[in-house]
Amino acid sequence: MLNHFQALLDAIPDLLFEVGLDGRIYDFHSPRTELLAMPAEQFLGKRIAEVLPAATAAICMGAIEEAARLGRSSGAVYSLELPIGTRWFELSVSAIAPEAGSDGNPRFVFLSRDVSFRIQAEEEMRIAAAAFESEQGMFITDADTTILKSNRAFTRITGYGKEEVLGMTPRIFSSGRHGPGFFATLWTSLVSNGSWQGEIWNKRKNGETYPQWMSIHAVRDARGDTSNYVASFSDISLLKTAEEQIESLAFSDALTSLPNRRHLIVKMQQVLQSPDDQSHGALAVVDMDDFKSLNETVGQAWGDQVLQQVAQRLSACLTGKESLARIGGDSFALLLPNQGLDAPEAQRHTEQVVDRMLAALRLPHLLAGANHHRTASIGVVMFDGAGEQDIEDLLKRSELATHQAKATGRNNFRFFDPKMQSDLHARIALVNDLRDAIAKQEFQLLFQPQVTQNRDWTGAEALLRWNHPVRGYVPTTTFIALAEETGLIIPLGDWVMDAACEQLAQWAGHAVLCDLTLSVNVSALQFQQGDFVAQTMAVLARTGARPDRLKMELTESLMVADMECTIGKMHALREAGVRFSLDDFGTGFSSLSHLKRLPLDQLKIDQSFVRNILTDNNDAAIAKMVIALGQSMGLEVMAEGVESADQCTALVALGCQSFQGYLFSPPVQGQAFEALALHTQAANCA
Ligand code: C2E
Ligand code: MG
Ligand code: MG
Repeated sequence: MLNHFQALLDAIPDLLFEVGLDGRIYDFHSPRTELLAMPAEQFLGKRIAEVLPAATAAICMGAIEEAARLGRSSGAVYSLELPIGTRWFELSVSAIAPEAGSDGNPRFVFLSRDVSFRIQAEEEMRIAAAAFESEQGMFITDADTTILKSNRAFTRITGYGKEEVLGMTPRIFSSGRHGPGFFATLWTSLVSNGSWQGEIWNKRKNGETYPQWMSIHAVRDARGDTSNYVASFSDISLLKTAEEQIESLAFSDALTSLPNRRHLIVKMQQVLQSPDDQSHGALAVVDMDDFKSLNETVGQAWGDQVLQQVAQRLSACLTGKESLARIGGDSFALLLPNQGLDAPEAQRHTEQVVDRMLAALRLPHLLAGANHHRTASIGVVMFDGAGEQDIEDLLKRSELATHQAKATGRNNFRFFDPKMQSDLHARIALVNDLRDAIAKQEFQLLFQPQVTQNRDWTGAEALLRWNHPVRGYVPTTTFIALAEETGLIIPLGDWVMDAACEQLAQWAGHAVLCDLTLSVNVSALQFQQGDFVAQTMAVLARTGARPDRLKMELTESLMVADMECTIGKMHALREAGVRFSLDDFGTGFSSLSHLKRLPLDQLKIDQSFVRNILTDNNDAAIAKMVIALGQSMGLEVMAEGVESADQCTALVALGCQSFQGYLFSPPVQGQAFEALALHTQAANCA
């Protein structure tokens, strides 16, 4: 059995040493050998300075010296790197009274207490305190949500001082914006996950409500019960404002401040997805007529001003339920939802609104002191809540109707009808086929003779035919117009010029056909190509066709474009021998002063005047005028579309010398043309 003193010693968990004034270690006691820096045999009899690092040894020696002076020393702390990690020790040193029989040198009891846990806890406390004073607002409550503590950022954000909120609950921050459901979700998350985070609107002390991003964590005690809640939050009102600004930029048009196309689509989604709304609605697309020319004539800045005025005028036509948006440069869209369950009634009402808008847009715009008149065309599509509607489809349909309104004279409106769409699809299919046909050269030239009063042949007109494998013959005017609109007339025209020159070259070696001219229709777009002259010269050279047998039929539309350039090209070609005819004369807008400047050889009276020359005095007068004009300008005048001998006689009486028409021959294929030429010559000679 241990003696009383030994038992007492063993109960002490600290390290006990007996040391001398010089730090020599005479004895030690410790039940926790893992706290020793080294095994006892390595330090017993040695001085502290010999076994511990210098800084630690200095602290220990300081404490011994103090105890030598005062009898006791406590509170000094040192750390040691041990195999079990860094440990912290607090020193307590007491001088031992000299015993009888000892050497009389002072001895000390040197006690090192392991205070590592306390030191670590203090460290964590310091970190926690620093963290608590972060940029985030923080408060801590007890389990009943009574506020125990808050930080400086909390005061800065909420306006409440620390003391003011002590003992209060977070209910004082309530903005009233969230319903009970919101808080129920928050508490469910806190209880089941121990945390919640999200956006919450709270109220500052000054009454202002603002959004916070808040995280709340439940703190559990040793038994697992919630002891506290720690809430941290930041003020996200600036972020929100920025977010709203970005959203408003993304959804509105900067020039007019109207909602933009994206916004309109969202609105339409809301209207179309409203499940119990079966009523009819309308979507109207308003497009300014010829806005490009306004921008070009008065400049973009004034153009912008007109758009702003247009936006204001359209807005003034609204009665409240409608939404107006700017969906493109000069186009606006009006969404008219809830026009009632009766379709005709809904359409009538829409019509009234659209009429009002057109009238408002017709009023002049005052720009730089002058009145400018603009108009718009409107396309409308009706829809109802019952049908499955595709938004982009509705927009496309109303835009299609707008194009129709423009095509039928502008300054009016059109309701979409399904035929428009089928027409559009048919047109797209035809364009595709045309493109294919150009690649595959599915075309053919027919030739129609041109004759004198005595029926002597002087030439022919080359007329294009397209025989599609499935469609059959496509009317020439139809596909030529399409080719002009799509630009396909360029490759098509190149093919025609090539084929016509090949034909001319062939005729050159033919006894009867060698003197004939060949008239080729050249579209304005083709003529305006920068390299048109060079291209034509190249074709003439390659085929060997005589330039003076080639006649180009141009139309009056060429005179609208750059006159100087047109005249220059005509002169260049004429120099090489090429001749020019003005086709369909009388149907365009040619000014006589322009006409005089063109190096022309021939005028062709349009067949529409020839058709009724016998019955319509007006047409007869125009034909007469064209002939007289041609004569006065020294130009040959040819009448086209001559179908009857009486028409021919009437034209001869007016002084016309050249003719073309079914009376002499319809357009025919190359071989038939040759046979007919031989036959006619034989008949004429007979
Ligand atoms: P256009 O140049 O005025 O050609 C005369 C049109 O009148 C031709 O129609 C011809 O077939 C038709 N025609 C001739 N005699 C008579 C007649 O006695 N009565 C009636 N009612 N019509 C007659 P087509 O061949 O259908 O060509 C229509 C238009 O297509 C041409 O009018 C021309 O503007 C254009 N076109 C034809 N071929 C070409 C071409 O190769 N290139 C270009 N750019 N346009 C062409
Ligand atoms: Mg022609
Ligand atoms: Mg013609």
